[in-house]
Amino acid sequence: MRATATVNLAALQHNVAALQSRLERPAETLVAVKANAYGHGLVPVARALTAGGVGWLGVATPDEALTLRDAGIGARILMFGPQRGEDLARLIEREVDLTVTSEADLTAVQTEAERLGISGVRVHLKVDTGMGRLGEPPGAAVRLMHMADGLTRLAPTGVWTHLACADEPDSPATDEQLARFADVLTGLEAEGLTPPLRHAANSAAVLTRPDAHFDLVRPGIAAYGYAPSDALRDVARDLTPAMTVEAPVVFVKDVPAGTPVSYGHRWRAPNATRVATVRLGYGDGYLRAASNVADMHVAGRLARVVGTVCMDQTMLDVGDADVQVGDRVIAFGPHPGVGADDVARAVGTIAYEILTGVDARLERRYEGLSDGSS
Ligand SMILES: *Cc1c(COP(=O)(O)O)cnc(C)c1O
Repeated sequence: MRATATVNLAALQHNVAALQSRLERPAETLVAVKANAYGHGLVPVARALTAGGVGWLGVATPDEALTLRDAGIGARILMFGPQRGEDLARLIEREVDLTVTSEADLTAVQTEAERLGISGVRVHLKVDTGMGRLGEPPGAAVRLMHMADGLTRLAPTGVWTHLACADEPDSPATDEQLARFADVLTGLEAEGLTPPLRHAANSAAVLTRPDAHFDLVRPGIAAYGYAPSDALRDVARDLTPAMTVEAPVVFVKDVPAGTPVSYGHRWRAPNATRVATVRLGYGDGYLRAASNVADMHVAGRLARVVGTVCMDQTMLDVGDADVQVGDRVIAFGPHPGVGADDVARAVGTIAYEILTGVDARLERRYEGLSDGSS
């Protein structure tokens, strides 16, 4: 009787194929596998993706990149942020594609590469067209790419930007960012400095902005089966959530009207009903904010989370359903009403946070591919 996170690797491959079918010209596919592959498990997900033909993986930390290399993953790996020092050296040694944002980043890569005696270190210049997080403004791109071009150990490989509002189809910000990126590309072209890979598209832009696809696309959330926002649910209809979080019922009781449930007595049974206790709580990553507002799926129906979610347990009002100890409850997964996006809406966050929050305490199981766990 344990809580599990089951990942359907065939669904991941299906989602990637569904995203690739939207590309109007050939473009490479990078899938973001940062944050333990959005909670799905870094190495098994990377293996399934690369087995399915995905050539690129995107990570946020040096440990993520090195874990992939240690597991024997030979695909191209892009670090989304700049690095220094020991981490930088190890990434260069393991042939990870690096992001650079400034002269200082370029100098750091050249210096480490020189020290290691390694040439052809692939760098991607990140330009800030409006995200306001990493990178210099568009006007700096030509100068930085000239510098990269002149550094003997470096192989300028990409120029990229990140979109802040692509999940809001009506926002003018995406047009503005893409116009600034177009200026960057025109400027680089005029100097003969265009690198082979221009990239800008996260999941939202893969789904809605063919003009942002360029030479490589970088979906994350959509590969795991979710729309980036409720506004894009319709255009993401063909995606299938890859992860199902399930937990066992460990206790069932029939209670009279007025019975209080859980810490703070924040719920009292409005009438006589049946309450099931589930072995899943915020210590597993099931948010406490779900108290009294989210649903789980049990015995063929949706049941409301009642009372405060505890660290290890959560209570459900199952009404008159025939629920038994040992029954499996779906906290979220590919079932109507209990998607990670449904839970997210109930608690006021986004599916990304629900997925990345799934704790290491849950046993990961992999299915859907014959060689899935290998
Ligand atoms: C996380 C990330 C992505 C993927 O974003 P989604 O919204 O999950 O598709 C793409 N590019 C960069 C730089 C990222 O950090």
